[in-house]
Amino acid sequence: MAFDIEMIKGVYSTMAERVDKAREVVGKPLTLSEKILYNHLWDKTPTKAFVRGKDYVDFAPDRIACQDATAQMALLQFMQAGKPKVAVPTTVHCDHLIQAKEGAAKDLKQANSVSSEVFNFLESVSNKYGIGFWKPGAGIIHQVVLENYAFPGGMMIGTDSHTVNAGGLGMVAIGVGGADAVDVMAGMAWELKFPKLIGVKLTGKLSGWTAPKDVILKVAEILTVKGGTGAIVEYFGPGATSMSCTGKGTICNMGAEIGATTSTFGYDESMERYLKATDRVDVAEAANKVKDYLTADPEVYANPEQYFDQVIEINLSELTPLLNGPFTPDLSTPAGSEMTKKATDNDWPLKVEWGLIGSCTNSSYEDLSRASSIAQQALDKKLKTKAEFGINPGSEQVRYTAERDGILKVFEDLDATIFTNACGPCIGQWARYSDPKNAPKNSIVHSFNRNFAKRADGNPNTHAFVASPELTAAIAISGKLDFNPLTDKLINEDGEEVMFDEPTGWELPPKGFEVKENGYLAPKEDGSNVDVVVASDSERLQLLTPFEPLGDSITGAKLLIKAFGKCTTDHISMAGPWLRFRGHLDNIANNTLIGAVNAFNKKTNFVKNQLTGDYGGVPDVQRAYKAEGIKTVVVGDHNYGEGSSREHAAMQPRHLGVAAVIVKSFARIHETNLKKQGMLGLTFDNESDYDLIQEDDTFNFLDLNEFAPDKQLTLEVVHADGSKDTIKLNHTYNEAQIDWYKEGSALNLIKKQNA
Ligand code: SF4
Repeated sequence: MAFDIEMIKGVYSTMAERVDKAREVVGKPLTLSEKILYNHLWDKTPTKAFVRGKDYVDFAPDRIACQDATAQMALLQFMQAGKPKVAVPTTVHCDHLIQAKEGAAKDLKQANSVSSEVFNFLESVSNKYGIGFWKPGAGIIHQVVLENYAFPGGMMIGTDSHTVNAGGLGMVAIGVGGADAVDVMAGMAWELKFPKLIGVKLTGKLSGWTAPKDVILKVAEILTVKGGTGAIVEYFGPGATSMSCTGKGTICNMGAEIGATTSTFGYDESMERYLKATDRVDVAEAANKVKDYLTADPEVYANPEQYFDQVIEINLSELTPLLNGPFTPDLSTPAGSEMTKKATDNDWPLKVEWGLIGSCTNSSYEDLSRASSIAQQALDKKLKTKAEFGINPGSEQVRYTAERDGILKVFEDLDATIFTNACGPCIGQWARYSDPKNAPKNSIVHSFNRNFAKRADGNPNTHAFVASPELTAAIAISGKLDFNPLTDKLINEDGEEVMFDEPTGWELPPKGFEVKENGYLAPKEDGSNVDVVVASDSERLQLLTPFEPLGDSITGAKLLIKAFGKCTTDHISMAGPWLRFRGHLDNIANNTLIGAVNAFNKKTNFVKNQLTGDYGGVPDVQRAYKAEGIKTVVVGDHNYGEGSSREHAAMQPRHLGVAAVIVKSFARIHETNLKKQGMLGLTFDNESDYDLIQEDDTFNFLDLNEFAPDKQLTLEVVHADGSKDTIKLNHTYNEAQIDWYKEGSALNLIKKQNA
């Protein structure tokens, strides 16, 4: 059904030889991350030491995982590649397209009705091309991957930025755009800039109210949303081995929130226990045979400063429960009085209206059991919960086991709504309001990973704070954002003062995991006769047509928008209700950049049409330029495109006629996605040139015909009064990526090579 033990043994069989060789060419002891990377070189045996943060390297990942929202476009692209089957084990997981409203049974039925066309498409493409298919309700991609496919020392990619979750089981697992996944499905190498390495030494031990979530919330505070960019974060030390495997998954999961390429932990007994509990004794036994290769060389952890580019140390014994937010996952506040002050100073509502537990970040059996221990205390101590409760289990296996063990009943006794085993409120698929845009200001607490504006419920006035499941439960019961369960008392129904005891729980279910119907469909051995149907009038799915190359002369391009401040992939291609169009490029293009703030008027979706002088929505203005055959440029600030891996954020502007995105800095995945779609993703050589860009500007690329690696491009910026500025732009394109640009897209190049 699920994992492929022979493939895993194959990975382990090359480990000793390749890692030993890598140690020789690098000339020093190796970190775990390096061991995994060097064992997955496309060229197999290491022959040179790669320069971290500089060299582009071809890798051969072991697996691919796709979720339903991104799989549509990935598979539509793969269908164009002309291959009969995927080249590496691949799975599709239906989890994003299920709205949370009334509870699992009704919501799942509704999703199966509303999105049947998409689910049927994904199922038939999976069946045809040898892809494992996890049905709606089977679980959230990353939890299902951790339970079934992740293995120590493996390398996987996934079309979702939280693919990194599998680092909890010692993988190098990286979120990519669909176009990257298509390369690997088509049997090609996957290219990555050899990452820098950040070591996080964990000393001490978690206890009481602190949880693995607090570790990553602390790391996010230290490194900020940009601090991990271009780096693998490797955790080690006694604090690391003392945590559960799923707790490690939580920490790796939110590595995406610091922009890290991925995060990982060395193989240890917690991973062995988890593998055995999830019916993978043979994987554990295979891993045990090569365990010295599944962690760093001893010298590395003894003197981390010599081997990592940056080292952070956190003493888990000194950690306190944290709440990060609102609107950004790196704004950290300890639970309690410090929050009272910050919330009052910043006018954040102190009343908490919802507590949400689950998502791929915190939906393990351990998470649910610890949070339910708090819920049970509320029942025992006659506390009435002040906020509403929502739970979304990570997989059917976790849900079934938690139901069997009475964990879900505890939440239900507190009137919690048990949502489908799916993303739901974590990705804006939460039918909380009929009119979210005009919904009131409020605060919520959740155990998810992201808390950008509108992320959960589409309401820009919802202040979302991220916390551990147990703290989320306590705060939801208290109804107070500044509640500190370590010190604060609550008044129960009898008017008595009561306090919570520390949370308790089980790392793994004492009676073992159990599931009746896990929701997995294996593909046909020979899928050549399977028909994949896309209706020509479908509003959800659209077959793709190849992009035309932009050419080596771009002149007279107009400014579409100069984005001000944070511009994430959610701002570029919003999720929520737009998820329904993820398989239809022209329809979803109608949300392009509607969340980006126009630097000239600080409004969203309100930009000047230079042809008419009128203002309009970004997609409308862009379509007007396209109708006239005029190319456009998008200008942005720092970390442009942070957030998810969705290539829609690149394909949509490309489809509408945007030629270049010029920013102060990029988030890695988005920059690669722009390159894959044959666009120009460029950065200002001089950051302050961002300030030169005016609303009526026209752009001429002066030396695009000399586009080459490590060579700046020159841009002439013509202002409305006729004056000009000539500025230098940097890029990170290598030869192969310049070929993508020249062919119009990476996919065009694959097709050409296949032909
Ligand atoms: Fe789903 Fe949220 Fe996890 Fe993304 S982060 S996979 S939306 S649960």
